[in-house]
Amino acid sequence: MKTVGTFAEVREITSGSVGLVPTMGFLHEGHLSLIEAARDEHDSVVVTLFVNPLQFNESTDLTGYPRDIDRDAALAKAAGADVLFAPDVATMYPSKPRTRVEVAGVADTMEGARRPRHFAGVATVVAKLFAGCLPNSAYFGRKDAQQLAVVRTMAADLSFPVEVRGLPIIRESDGLALSSRNIRIEPRDRPDAANLSSALFAGADAFEAGQRSLDALREITRATLEADQTVDVEYVEIAETADASIADRLERDVFIAVAARVGGVRLIDNVLLDPNTERADRGIRLERQSILYGGF
Ligand code: AMP
Repeated sequence: MKTVGTFAEVREITSGSVGLVPTMGFLHEGHLSLIEAARDEHDSVVVTLFVNPLQFNESTDLTGYPRDIDRDAALAKAAGADVLFAPDVATMYPSKPRTRVEVAGVADTMEGARRPRHFAGVATVVAKLFAGCLPNSAYFGRKDAQQLAVVRTMAADLSFPVEVRGLPIIRESDGLALSSRNIRIEPRDRPDAANLSSALFAGADAFEAGQRSLDALREITRATLEADQTVDVEYVEIAETADASIADRLERDVFIAVAARVGGVRLIDNVLLDPNTERADRGIRLERQSILYGGF
């Protein structure tokens, strides 16, 4: 595996079909599942590592974002990457970007409503990665369900010939969705962090038991989450998977989404509800502790 810093080098090294895995680094098993899927399906696998300033709202979140490129290079290589594209900010944005990609509607609810300009930052950097790396497929996690809808819409609207794949959420054994930000959770708050997934699973259980009222499903989730007073709930919503609009009926795939702060660390999570199969998708649980906490 080669670590490079320019798009020209990425295109020089890759050949045949290309699978792209965009990340902000500090890799965990969620990222590795995307890299492994890309490895199975393509001749060349490009992992990108770029902490994109354009998509951060809080400067302390940007400066405090965990980084360790040597660790990431070793993990990406072991998972099957051929290229680690780790550009610096000046390479990605040689001048102040005048062109931004705004995805109207899809970017306005939930995360978009709370984090102004966040999704424009995401859509802009992903469009640049598509244009510069020329992938056939790009792999994203359903952990960021609204981001996935934003990226799919952007790719379709701008006619990028890229298949956008969405893969299951990987979870710690207690249910906490893996996230690079999890290492900021203090050990004393760590058990409370698992309550986001417990609340979502309570909603998922009710759905699978036949509950079809969106208000009831949202309230079951919210009440379970609020029962833990150390969790500071930002929102509980049910949205359409396709366009992240707030759902008003249960006809197509939807997801219950939560955002909450646990000991000051902002976490998001979701479960998918499929009215056709009448099943909820809770993602995949690791049997052992993740590499973020020293396991593997
Ligand atoms: P990030 O480095 O947080 O920007 O994430 C890079 C990619 O990994 C995004 O497509 C995320 O949705 C995905 N991802 C992050 N956490 C998980 C997880 N727990 N399970 C599956 N995919 C994930």
